Amino acid sequence: MKLYNTLTRSKDEFIPNEEGKVKMYTCGPTVYHFAHIGNLRTYIMEDVLEKFLNFAGYEVTRAMNITDVGHLSSDGDTGEDKMLKGAKREKKTVMEIAQFYTDAFFSDCKKLNIKKPEIVVPATSCVDDYIHLIETLLEKGYAYIAGGNVYFDTSKLDTYYVFQNFKEEDLAVGVRDSVEEDENKRNKADFVLWFTKSKFDDQELKWDSPWGNGYPGWHIECSGISLKYLGDTLDIHCGGIDNAFPHHTNEIAQSEAYTGKKWCNNWFHVLHLNDARGKMSKSKGDFLTVSLLEEKGYDPLVYRMFCLQSHYRKPLVFTFESLDNTAGAYNKLLTRIASIQNEGEIDEAVVAEAKEKFINLVGNDLNTSLGLTAVYDILKLKTNGATKLAILKEYDKVLSLDLLTNKPTEKAKPKATEELTPAEIPEGVDVAKIEELIAKRLEAKKNRDFALADSIRNELSEMNIAILDTKEGTKWSVK
Ligand code: AMP
Ligand code: ZN
Repeated sequence: MKLYNTLTRSKDEFIPNEEGKVKMYTCGPTVYHFAHIGNLRTYIMEDVLEKFLNFAGYEVTRAMNITDVGHLSSDGDTGEDKMLKGAKREKKTVMEIAQFYTDAFFSDCKKLNIKKPEIVVPATSCVDDYIHLIETLLEKGYAYIAGGNVYFDTSKLDTYYVFQNFKEEDLAVGVRDSVEEDENKRNKADFVLWFTKSKFDDQELKWDSPWGNGYPGWHIECSGISLKYLGDTLDIHCGGIDNAFPHHTNEIAQSEAYTGKKWCNNWFHVLHLNDARGKMSKSKGDFLTVSLLEEKGYDPLVYRMFCLQSHYRKPLVFTFESLDNTAGAYNKLLTRIASIQNEGEIDEAVVAEAKEKFINLVGNDLNTSLGLTAVYDILKLKTNGATKLAILKEYDKVLSLDLLTNKPTEKAKPKATEELTPAEIPEGVDVAKIEELIAKRLEAKKNRDFALADSIRNELSEMNIAILDTKEGTKWSVK
């Protein structure tokens, strides 16, 4: 298989350290909110990668962390802990928030046919391992204590900015732009391994350590968990492209300083899902989730197919219009597959040839859109129904679109999208007031007081609200 490697900036032949075996690490979600469909694009593509490697004959061991501590509002080590922010928002404890959103994440994954990695580790469960790692980094002279915190000293490395496809100045922006420069840092790029002093004294989760009561930095968790569960070396490390710097850069610094050898050969980064306003992000507050897509009548697998239609190394723009197109295509595809009669005897040679073709197509830097084209080619193939179904079953081991089991139902057809769901309502829109006016208008219409009904419509219009009377009732949207 050929895979683009962010580290070498080229499409390289993928060669694992141990023949036939792949150790894969994935940065997991920060569980202070629901995952948005942007995050899930990354997890879908990583899932396809894992399944493809299995399909191509590799034995994959995959580990993922769950970030439930230490990820601050800014990736440059400043701001409040995201988990604490989530807990305050919902008036719950950090652990309650973590449990709730971890469950929500895996429930979304299930709906999208994303397989749960065999090793899933909450960051808070390995604090002793991080302490050991940090102690070793201090002993080896790669870390220092300043102002109560422990920092990684990036000047001790020959090369810190390893992802060469970014300019050094670009990479340093995250640090330069941080809200407040941390006076304790010896070098701008240095980062925190362990906090005991933070502006946010109400940090809920703290542990005793040789440096005082405190909590780990965000980056150390991935090094700690990966080294503990997958050993000193890795074959593939994945994540969204925003994680390349500083997070992955810092993971490499820590892990290699600790082991004294090369840690991971292949870096797989998924480009962002953007909406009309740019990168979809949790901190923007109003983002799209799988549940929202379901509420709008989309089968979550339509979104999976939407992601597979484009290459993971290209930014993907989300619009409902394009999702509607995919929903239509998915429905048609299911209908065509459902019409294949399971007759004749499976021609194993044809199946093997089709598998080979699929491996060659998708194996060229995980080209999932060619994988989908291969599905359509099978529909046209001159062979019996049983063979076609056997091939599609094989392809679906990687694509996971339930091609043989999902029925082309109403569910796969989208509802009208002009209706806004609560999470999409812009700030300042008084939902209660709007609903009250809509109810009054309905009453007026019932009483055949059309003048009043019209004046209410005008009042709503002045509030920038458009209404639409449908069979299911009055729908409204922000103009
Ligand atoms: P987080 O939960 O914020 O730690 O992010 C989880 C994963 O989603 C990471 O691999 C991020 O790099 C990735 N990610 C964040 N935003 C996006 C986006 N808009 N599109 C694709 N992946 C994203
Ligand atoms: Zn990570």
